[in-house]
Amino acid sequence: MTIAIKSSFVDGAFVDLDSGADILENRNPSNPGEVVECFVRADQHLTEQAISAARRAQPAWARSNPQHRADALDFIGTEILSRREELAALLAREEGKIVREALGEVDRAGRSFKFYAQEALRAEGEKYQSVRQDVGIDVFTQPLGVIGIIAPWNFPIAIPAWKIAPALCYGNCVVFKPAELVPSSAWALAEIISRSGLPGGVFNMLIGPGRSVGDTIIRSPEIDGISFTGSENTGRQIAKLAADGMKKVQLEMGGKNPLIVLDDADLEQAVDVALNGSFFSTGQRCTASSRVIVTEGIHDAFVTRLAKRTRALKVGDALQDTTDIGPVVDGRQLEQNLSYVASGREQGAKLVCGGERIENEAGAYFFKPALFTEVTPEMRIYREEIFGPVLSVLKVRDYDEAFAAAEDTAFGLSAGIVTTCLRHAEHFKRNSSAGMVMVNLPTAGVDYHVPFGGNGASSLGAREQGTHARQFFTRVKTTYQLA
Ligand code: NAD
Repeated sequence: MTIAIKSSFVDGAFVDLDSGADILENRNPSNPGEVVECFVRADQHLTEQAISAARRAQPAWARSNPQHRADALDFIGTEILSRREELAALLAREEGKIVREALGEVDRAGRSFKFYAQEALRAEGEKYQSVRQDVGIDVFTQPLGVIGIIAPWNFPIAIPAWKIAPALCYGNCVVFKPAELVPSSAWALAEIISRSGLPGGVFNMLIGPGRSVGDTIIRSPEIDGISFTGSENTGRQIAKLAADGMKKVQLEMGGKNPLIVLDDADLEQAVDVALNGSFFSTGQRCTASSRVIVTEGIHDAFVTRLAKRTRALKVGDALQDTTDIGPVVDGRQLEQNLSYVASGREQGAKLVCGGERIENEAGAYFFKPALFTEVTPEMRIYREEIFGPVLSVLKVRDYDEAFAAAEDTAFGLSAGIVTTCLRHAEHFKRNSSAGMVMVNLPTAGVDYHVPFGGNGASSLGAREQGTHARQFFTRVKTTYQLA
């Protein structure tokens, strides 16, 4: 079988493939011998060309008819939804998310574009009377300019969609860099966008490494804003460089999300919520619950039931209907999971089940979801983001202790509680420091039309998604006029 070689999209066209170029192989984590597709890596020079193309296109796009923007976004959303099965299978092959979850992700991407198609037509502005006689004041928003979008590998189509759609909607041009582990979904999205009627240069996509392509985007004086999702480390570097360049940034980073389970919880519901939030999508979600804080009255029953359900999860090929948990995304992430399991044991936690690689002929990165008890707050498995299906259970006395434990983190993305007590649910919703709080629901799994984001080391800058996205992708202008 011949394997397609694909390339970046710059100034309205996919760039020519020149021989001898640096080739990136996209491999299937359920079967690493299988190359899904190959890509020519972009370099610094091509990145500079894409940024210049976006800069040239920006003034006209900023003034473009909102109906044009709405139609283009609607076209993209409609096509994504109509090809949902094909795109979900591609996503499952390159990232390892099971097809059921991949379908959900593709739907979310399509709906984000459709949401912003409507949003493009929503006029926004405020009128004030001046404190000076006969002066009128208009306040309105303008596009931010050229946006660098840098995405992680764990949501290969939804994260790019929820950044690109609002950027274009509010009149910005885009230079988008997907993660190198998932270029195929990004390329499929770019191919759809290439037929949506956008003028050349408005949207550009570069497949290449963070240290060259990403770094060039971040340092470029022609970039006005950076919307980044990825690890805390990379986010910190970007924040520093952006501050030097006086660029606006929106950073979505890691999490160590707590789930509290109280004595009064419905046991089966608590187990469902923990299982879903901690292990689904192979635990590779920034909103995954990796710490479950359980009060002592329900602790033993909860652990027994959760262990039974965890052992029953079927780990396997992402494309098979019977699979509950797909593979870890690559060998490096698998090693990271295994080293955290070793660290948990060394520091004295009890491994109740899982935590090992499932050996197989294909070399797939299958890993059994791990459940730790007898965890203490200073352990690394309890404090650091693992980004895999490794769950730590902390036993506490009561709600007050549970609340204090939940708050004991530098992160602040998502937090959950399972309880039938209205007072504790309300207290938690109001007082948790996380940006998103769930009651009787998994910490992961959010809607596309409302703000998304966190606090502390998890997020910096304006919220993503919904109408709140306008705050990042526009700047405010105040005008005064004498009557
Ligand atoms: P990562 O930081 O390694 O990479 C993210 C992106 O940044 C990639 O495209 C990468 O190529 C690029 N990059 C890396 N170094 C760069 C540099 N020096 N300059 C510019 N760009 C650079 O993260 P990852 O491993 O792809 O993703 C996993 C992380 O993402 C986890 O920490 C997870 O919590 C986080 N995440 C957060 C959210 C959220 O919304 N908060 C959502 C999904 C994932």
